[in-house]
Amino acid sequence: MDIMNHNPETKYVFVTGGVVSSLGKGICSAALGALLKLHGYRVRIRKFDPYLNVDAGTMNPYQHGECFVTDDCAETDLDLGHYERFTGVNARKSDCVTAGQIYQEVITREREKGFKGATVQVVPHITGAIKEKLQEDTADTDFVICEIGGTVGDIEGLPFLEGIRQMRNDTGSERTLFIHCTLLPYLETAGELKTKPAQHSVKELLSVGIQPDFMICRTNVALAQPERHKLAQFCNIRDNRLFESQDVATIYAVPEMLHEQGLDTRVLEYFDMYAQDSINLSAWSAIVSSLTMPNRQIVTIGIVGKYVKLPDAYKSLTEALVHAGIHHDVEINMLWIDSEDETADLHQQMDQCQGILVPGGFGVRGTDGMIDAVRYAREKNVPYLGICLGMQVAVIEAMRNIGEVNSAGSAEFHTDSDVLPIIALLSEWAQGENIETRGLNSDFGGTMRLGAADCALKPGSKVAGIYGSLLITERHRHRYEVNPKYCAQFAELGVIFSGHTQHETLPEIPEILERNDHPWFVGVQFHPELKSRPFAPHPLFVSYIGACVQIERLL
Ligand code: GLN
Repeated sequence: MDIMNHNPETKYVFVTGGVVSSLGKGICSAALGALLKLHGYRVRIRKFDPYLNVDAGTMNPYQHGECFVTDDCAETDLDLGHYERFTGVNARKSDCVTAGQIYQEVITREREKGFKGATVQVVPHITGAIKEKLQEDTADTDFVICEIGGTVGDIEGLPFLEGIRQMRNDTGSERTLFIHCTLLPYLETAGELKTKPAQHSVKELLSVGIQPDFMICRTNVALAQPERHKLAQFCNIRDNRLFESQDVATIYAVPEMLHEQGLDTRVLEYFDMYAQDSINLSAWSAIVSSLTMPNRQIVTIGIVGKYVKLPDAYKSLTEALVHAGIHHDVEINMLWIDSEDETADLHQQMDQCQGILVPGGFGVRGTDGMIDAVRYAREKNVPYLGICLGMQVAVIEAMRNIGEVNSAGSAEFHTDSDVLPIIALLSEWAQGENIETRGLNSDFGGTMRLGAADCALKPGSKVAGIYGSLLITERHRHRYEVNPKYCAQFAELGVIFSGHTQHETLPEIPEILERNDHPWFVGVQFHPELKSRPFAPHPLFVSYIGACVQIERLL
């Protein structure tokens, strides 16, 4: 096998889930990654998802939550955001693999006669490709923690389970470890924790040839010693390799909770690798105590968007706000405001907010409500942060209501010629060394400006002060741009563009000048929330929440 950037020493920790989904196996994987990193190891966390979409780019956020974007342009599952936030390691394209991507590659190779006439089958070809992906791009890695999406027993997960079973057979237990995350439900009426579903999910794993080495059990009450012993016995796991993941006040408490039970040392012991006598988790404790401190000042941020019924659709955004809250020692109360809901009184809801934020989004639906929210924030001097679509609606609002150009709009929302397209589809842009092109009918999966790109900031501007730099790199995920033709007209309205893309000088950051009496009004074409970390809150969010803290409103 010829695998790119492969490290023959890398150890693999496979994390599977049983009984139900949403057990927090992504958070447990991220927490283990953070702990191993504190022991001094180089860690990557990967997600292998059994769905047939080639990537998460085309998936509805209502079904699948946020689409996370990596520096190297991959559109991925939201769990990769957790991995980055917990470990501080930037995820890469190679860390997010879907069944669709594997099948597409195998079928393309078959069409190119790459299999030389062989019958192409799930085993060994799909499983072989899964194993290659697992080991690819590991040259700089001691541990790959690989989360297998879905729940054991799902039909579509079988090739992945077969792939990891074969990995154990190929490389031995010296290089592979199976952790099974499962649920222990508490039955009120019986007054006890039930272990049977967990036993069944282990049986299910055994039926595909995988005996878990470790188990992490999600519970809402503590597991008593006799039940613990029974579960370990029935699942054929040593007592000290069974861990509890009790419900906690914040996800950032999980690394400490698992460390206290010795998960990291047991994992290192298993691989016969050096474990530090003690690791310093004080930064994690500080975050947890800040987030759970009672009586913190509450700052209410109104998030006006169209996917607000499922906050997972804005996962990185909510985390970035929380991180900035930790910085200012305030509690962030997120008020989710549905911009599509015509029956609700948008203004009445925004009256409760000390800051308004319009996040990213696609399509025309709900944009009238967003434009109204921008106008409210601008006219009532409420701090405003517009992200991607939230920036685009802000410039439309300014042109319509300050500039009195009612026809101002976006080519994404209106195709008729009466609209002045101040947000337009520009056909070419540079992506690294290459020139990319896009058009209305281009393949939706691959025509966006994606991933990290440089943005040059205007000296003396508000954002240059916030970032403390004149050149920043942020991640993008959008198709439309502010049309550079209108920049001079915007300047006359008191809206300046203080950030431009490095190569094509496309306007990326409108800000309303403070001389116009607005305390804080910034829009950004990119997604700063994707780079915020609990230990390194994003400067834009820190500055924005700092401004919101100052706002006194009738609460
Ligand atoms: N829909 C807009 C565009 O494609 C904004 C995208 C976003 O908010 N991520 O440009």
